[in-house]
Amino acid sequence: MNALLDTRGRPLRDLRISVTDRCNLRCTYCMPADVFGPGYPFLPRAEVLTFEEIERLARVFAGLGVRKLRLTGGEPTLRRDLPALVARLAATPGIEDIALTTNGLLLPGMAVALRRAGLRRVTISLDSLDDATFRRMNGLDVPLAAVLKGIEAARDAGFEQIKLNTVVQRGVNEASVAAMAERWRGTGITVRFIEFMDVGNTNGWRLDQVVPAREIRDVVHARWPIEPVDPAFPGEVAKRWRYRDGQGEIGLISSVTSTFCGDCNRARLSPRGELFTCLFAGSGHDLRGPLRAGAADADLQALVRRIWGARDDRYSELRAAGQAGHPKAEMSYLGG
Ligand code: SAM
Ligand code: SF4
Ligand code: SF4
Repeated sequence: MNALLDTRGRPLRDLRISVTDRCNLRCTYCMPADVFGPGYPFLPRAEVLTFEEIERLARVFAGLGVRKLRLTGGEPTLRRDLPALVARLAATPGIEDIALTTNGLLLPGMAVALRRAGLRRVTISLDSLDDATFRRMNGLDVPLAAVLKGIEAARDAGFEQIKLNTVVQRGVNEASVAAMAERWRGTGITVRFIEFMDVGNTNGWRLDQVVPAREIRDVVHARWPIEPVDPAFPGEVAKRWRYRDGQGEIGLISSVTSTFCGDCNRARLSPRGELFTCLFAGSGHDLRGPLRAGAADADLQALVRRIWGARDDRYSELRAAGQAGHPKAEMSYLGG
């Protein structure tokens, strides 16, 4: 079978599956509480893919070259039997790697079951080590200690890899950069600093709130000298830097100031079963309709082939060139 390439020659390797549009936080840069309030029309249960449906689609994607899955949301751990999904996906032929992105709050009750189900890697989002800043940023006044407990639970469960995601916003949590680097150096946990992105339409994004990755690098480098590390695989999103004193690594995700559309091999599946070919796409391609209408695996594969074959997304490059500006799907819907 020929490799499946899009119009820019990019293969399909990585599938991010958003298993729910709901969340137990209201991070101001993602699901601002005034927009995602009590009346917000979250998807009714029947609209959301079942685990059987997700497993089926994962098999279809694996048949087209996908090797890595990342479960995300909304908050994926709100699907109570998430470990059962992990077990199904881990048994899918062709899938070599499954990771989870979570805010960590529910990990104390789930980490061991996830690990036993075959999950090897977890990314936990943590934007600040200052309790007041963290409470403000998560929109619901949830204490920092709750996430730290989640990180501890992940460590105790013995995951092979734990990473932390820190979104850096000018004037909000810049002080987090040095504090996070200092706290997690030498622990085996890698912090990935992410430039604040213009995802969705509701987070009031402004370019002057982006702290450029090079500035983050300089802050860390001034205290603890770092040097670049080669990417672990093609299309790796985070630029890796290691501490010269051997105390581990950090990652920098420069989606705004230094774009990486050129080797973007990521597809995204929404909770409703739409295939999005870019994080910043306005809409997706319905896979759930054909799936529920009884399409065979081969039909679904042909459909995904057509969609990927026609893909020409490069939103971040266009933004950098000043040419972007269409309505986009929400981050909490697609999951990053
Ligand atoms: N709820 C889970 C969590 O927070 O880890 C998974 C979903 S969340 C949408 C995935 C990642 O996207 C998180 O690490 C979050 O910090 C990041 N994110 C959300 N909004 C963002 C934005 N505007 N810019 C950059 N990263 C963002
Ligand atoms: Fe929820 Fe994650 Fe978005 Fe925060 S970043 S609101 S935890 S989905
Ligand atoms: Fe991929 Fe779209 Fe992000 Fe570019 S903007 S790296 S195409 S998801």
